[in-house]
Amino acid sequence: MSLHLQMIGTGSAFSKKYYNNNALLRCNGFTLLIDCGVTATRALDALKIDLGQLDGVLITHIHADHVGGLEEIAFQLLYVFRRRIKLLVPSLLKETLWIHTLKGGLENKEEGFCSLDDYFDVVVLEPHVPFPIAGREFTVELVPTRHIPNKPSYSLYLNGKVFYSSDARFDPALLADFHRNRGCEAILHDCQLFEPGTVHASLAELLTLPEDIQRKVLLMHYGDNKEEFEGKTGAMTFIEQGKIYRF
Ligand SMILES: [Zn+2]
Ligand SMILES: [Zn+2]
Repeated sequence: MSLHLQMIGTGSAFSKKYYNNNALLRCNGFTLLIDCGVTATRALDALKIDLGQLDGVLITHIHADHVGGLEEIAFQLLYVFRRRIKLLVPSLLKETLWIHTLKGGLENKEEGFCSLDDYFDVVVLEPHVPFPIAGREFTVELVPTRHIPNKPSYSLYLNGKVFYSSDARFDPALLADFHRNRGCEAILHDCQLFEPGTVHASLAELLTLPEDIQRKVLLMHYGDNKEEFEGKTGAMTFIEQGKIYRF
């Protein structure tokens, strides 16, 4: 069963040319959106994908380019599409996501909307445990990674073969472990094009990876000046917004 992955956006948090770095996955009859930034509904609309096609949304960490579109999705699913979908959320993020991100817009005590569970079928994920999204053919494992100090943030390991960094600092030992010991076939990594890499891996850092690892790397979460770096990414390749990749 192959995994179809389509980046609905590939841009950094500051990009104006690309949509937020969010991914649409399809496998075993299930359609999952990975992260839902402020541009997510516009990006889906540009690809002619309506929200009624989604079966779930997974959140990797709390920044607006990853969660800023959830309020609209919650309202549209409730009032327009009249269907509930899964919200897969790391256990450490569930309370914060409601209290600090969504409660202001979504709480409606009079109508009984007082928590995430009133809008979504919430599935709480724990790190390091592969979770069956749609049978054993479509699984996701949370991998805790460093992004902002003291804020939980997760990379994902999809179907035991695709590493998806979401937003993470450079961690060559972790990437080498997935490459050598965990059967990793592809690494989708965020890539900051200017130096130094502080909260993201920078291109200069990623270029220090051994070539056999670089060959597996698709760069995402890039800035508007990406063209200046075409041909300067070693054995790594920029992932294309909107294109469907099969793994
Ligand atoms: Zn981001
Ligand atoms: Zn982030």
